[in-house]
Amino acid sequence: LSEKLGGILDRLTGRGALSEADVDAAMREIRRALLEADVALEVVRSFTERVREQAVGATVVKSVKPGQMVVKIVHDELVATLGSDVQALDLNTVPPVPIMMVGLQGSGKTTTTAKLARRLTERDKRKVLMASLDVYRPAAMEQLAVLGRDLGIDTLPIVAGQQPAQIARRAIEAAKLGGYDVVMLDTAGRTTLDEAMMTEAAEIKAVANPHEVLLVADSLTGQDAVNLARAFDTQVGLTGIALTRIDGDGRGGAALSMRAVTGKPIKLMGTGEKTDALEDFHPSRIAGRILGMGDVVSLVEKAAATLDAEKAAAVAEKMRKGKFDLVDMRDQLLQMSKMGGIGGLMGLMPGIAKMKNQIAAAGIDDKILNRQIAIIDSMTREERKNPDILKASRKKRIAAGCGLKVEDVNKLLKMHRNMADMMKAVGRGKGGPMAGLAKA
Ligand code: GDP
Ligand code: MG
Repeated sequence: LSEKLGGILDRLTGRGALSEADVDAAMREIRRALLEADVALEVVRSFTERVREQAVGATVVKSVKPGQMVVKIVHDELVATLGSDVQALDLNTVPPVPIMMVGLQGSGKTTTTAKLARRLTERDKRKVLMASLDVYRPAAMEQLAVLGRDLGIDTLPIVAGQQPAQIARRAIEAAKLGGYDVVMLDTAGRTTLDEAMMTEAAEIKAVANPHEVLLVADSLTGQDAVNLARAFDTQVGLTGIALTRIDGDGRGGAALSMRAVTGKPIKLMGTGEKTDALEDFHPSRIAGRILGMGDVVSLVEKAAATLDAEKAAAVAEKMRKGKFDLVDMRDQLLQMSKMGGIGGLMGLMPGIAKMKNQIAAAGIDDKILNRQIAIIDSMTREERKNPDILKASRKKRIAAGCGLKVEDVNKLLKMHRNMADMMKAVGRGKGGPMAGLAKA
């Protein structure tokens, strides 16, 4: 079976390459999708540039549209940028292993501390001590203590009046004495990035020498995600990122932004408020979301439709000017078959209902579009440009060339005449029913 499949794949490769025009049209859609997903602008720029370089000239597998090809490249690059493999926490050092959580206020540090402690306890059978270093918010330490009690996980006893770095030192000592495997340090955040927060985090880090420093960040963070991640990484030093509120309706652009500017892996995802709502990071899931609710195919179609709409508009302009030869008609037929038939094309050209009737009258259905194209392909260049020279002998030759009857050639020519006449009429009457066509 696999041999057979391999043979098919072999035959499908090497049938042309993506053109710059294909890629440009698709890139516009990709750019929009990334910005809508709240990926930071600077990351969108560098990302699309990278994809562009890969896409231009890439081989298009037959039966796949160029746009689909581009989206495949985009998707793969997204997954590669986000990190193809699951990045586990590194606990590989002499216990107690210190893990430090940093981030803005409300990002989910305390919740994620409890979630991770629960997972390390229940799944990995580690003995965990949690310590709150948040001396600013009145109820912060109590919040962690309550979570610890509910989970049956120890928290460092609260001592009033200590500085965060002192508490960190005390936590490490307690963990050593108590024979803990892991000691989790839940730090205080502020509502915005500021020097005081960075200085304090750096101090705690110097005292605790944490094996993991995780930036806890809300996945709904927009354009600020790059500044946030960059500041914590350069001023404190990160080993990874924990993304919270994946259960929200965000598109996950922050993940790409933060990963791209720091190069640090996203190690965990918070998927709810409860302490069991913690998962390993899945790049393909986030990539799908960034591209638009996981529906890669719809994006592909959108990109492809843009391409076709531009070509259709160009043909419509020619029609309006009364210049409509068989070469244009062939383009038109090709567009129709590409877009899944007459209905699709008409949707792009408002006000053209009359022509739709003409085509229907000529007995064209989607299945015979290819035959029509074959007839035009059997003509010489001269004949296509000037159908009037087509007399009986030429028609016979053309019919023979494409394996059809002279009758079929006549039908095609009649349809062309009808379309051309109608276009001329439209071109003359500026106030006619299709006056807006050129802008369509
Ligand atoms: P901190 O200030 O960084 O310690 O943030 P907290 O851990 O106190 O979390 C702030 C709020 O966000 C709380 O109401 C949490 O329940 C909520 N939260 C944290 N993580 C998640 C998550 O992954 N999903 C959802 N829906 N809510 C979360
Ligand atoms: Mg907190």
